[in-house]
Amino acid sequence: MRDTRQRICIIGGGPAGISAAMYLEKFGYRNYEIYEKLGRVGGKSYSPVIHVRNNEARTFEAGAIMGNKIYYAVHELEQFAGVTHTDGPNMRRMYRDSFGQEVFPFDSKKDSSFDKTISLLKLKKQTKRFVELMNTKYRGYDCYGHVGVAQGRYSGLSRAEDKALRRIHGVNLNLKDLAMPFDKFCRINEVEEVMKTWIGPFTALGCGYFDEIPSAYVLKHLNTTAMTEFTRMRQWTWKDGTQSIYEAANRKLANPAHLHTEVVKVERPENEPIRVTIEDAGGVHTEAFDRLIVTTPLNWFMEYADANEEERDLFSRILHEKLVDFIATFEPGDGPSMSGYILDNLTPQTRGHAMVYYHRWEELGDDCPCTVYALRSHLGDKDVDYDYTIQMMEEDMKRCGFQIKERLHEQETYSCPHISTEDYAAGWYDRLEALQGNRNTFYAGEILSFGDMEDTCASSRDIVGRFFK
Ligand SMILES: Cc1cc2nc3c(=O)[nH]c(=O)nc-3n(C[C@H](O)[C@H](O)[C@H](O)COP(=O)(O)OP(=O)(O)OC[C@H]3O[C@@H](n4cnc5c(N)ncnc54)[C@H](O)[C@@H]3O)c2cc1C
Repeated sequence: MRDTRQRICIIGGGPAGISAAMYLEKFGYRNYEIYEKLGRVGGKSYSPVIHVRNNEARTFEAGAIMGNKIYYAVHELEQFAGVTHTDGPNMRRMYRDSFGQEVFPFDSKKDSSFDKTISLLKLKKQTKRFVELMNTKYRGYDCYGHVGVAQGRYSGLSRAEDKALRRIHGVNLNLKDLAMPFDKFCRINEVEEVMKTWIGPFTALGCGYFDEIPSAYVLKHLNTTAMTEFTRMRQWTWKDGTQSIYEAANRKLANPAHLHTEVVKVERPENEPIRVTIEDAGGVHTEAFDRLIVTTPLNWFMEYADANEEERDLFSRILHEKLVDFIATFEPGDGPSMSGYILDNLTPQTRGHAMVYYHRWEELGDDCPCTVYALRSHLGDKDVDYDYTIQMMEEDMKRCGFQIKERLHEQETYSCPHISTEDYAAGWYDRLEALQGNRNTFYAGEILSFGDMEDTCASSRDIVGRFFK
């Protein structure tokens, strides 16, 4: 029964935690606390400030970068926070091979050879077929979340422009195919060419390789509208960085997040309040709550909470990618003047190599620091050593003609949490759904739909809308 006086604990002040608090407030809840272990909110929406030429302060992105016109839940946060995506820099890009040479994979004017013309025609034809398939054979594929998909059902908030963020559900047995890795899904549907366009915004931005990730994740993140927006370079970006969305929303909340406050223990005794132990500057203390919303990775939750057997079994199956990135500065005149994808490096065999560099401020030309990204993990293979990855990323940039002066904000992130194709097909998400609300615990965050800001915030909307309304 709805009782807005209930005391609710939100663990994590990333996009999922901040949006959960906003949606709780929309339904009249004020008695909640958000605990965030870092000294800032936003989680992997992390936009450090760097002083560039003339000592001017600019934001750069070390985590999330962009959105698009179907970022409905993020837009609700923007409106709540008074933030706009209309002031961010535009996102032009070029492509290179592993030797650092510029290539033109999608431009028939730059290379009008017979082979290239045929290959582009094939891509165009298969893309058209792919869009048709997704709208017919795979109807329902793009609602948020994965509940029922393994059984050939869809159920969740809609992304369709006329029904955005309204719950839809239906049966479509073909959806079972979404458990397959994306490369196999494309093969059986005879649309392998589309991987050439999907790979840029997926693998290069740290979401994994197409032979290891169930298609459902690829297609929920990059549905056909999102891909059209990407291809036409119509992304949303934020002048003050993606972090600014969550910082501004946090300031508007009735109870802004407690920073530097790590949840170190959760105990959920039967018929008693939940006990949450936190560690902050004042030491270690325990607070009592009626309900819990978990937005930290669920395999981490297992480490600090009294997880039961079902939680342990489910959460220990969660996989993630190891994404390494740093912001590189260059000697004046020595850096790139536009973002670049190094296409040959988007394979499991070349993991550890630089896949893409993000040049954020066009007007700074080749004086602009850039974020460089590499994946060092691939399911079934040994991780590439971290230090070796950094070294190769630097060498790859050098091959492109860019001598790195300094690396700033270097980090490895827990990227794209997902489950294996086997666990997906076996109904992992339906088991998670059955746990929602047990022991007054609700699970939100990236794993619920996909590891981007929109899917994450929409999951919080879904959880709050279904269980707290
Ligand atoms: C390099 C990179 C690029 C990306 N690019 C994009 C993009 O362009 N567009 C897009 O939409 N998305 C992008 N993403 C993904 C997006 O950033 C994430 O999907 C989103 O941040 C997930 O939100 P979350 O709240 O679920 O998790 P997180 O952002 O990880 O937030 C979880 C929070 O919980 C806190 N926490 C963890 N443990 C505890 C604890 N015990 N106690 C208290 N607090 C704790 C963490 O400090 C963190 O702040 C990118 C991510 C990365 C890494």
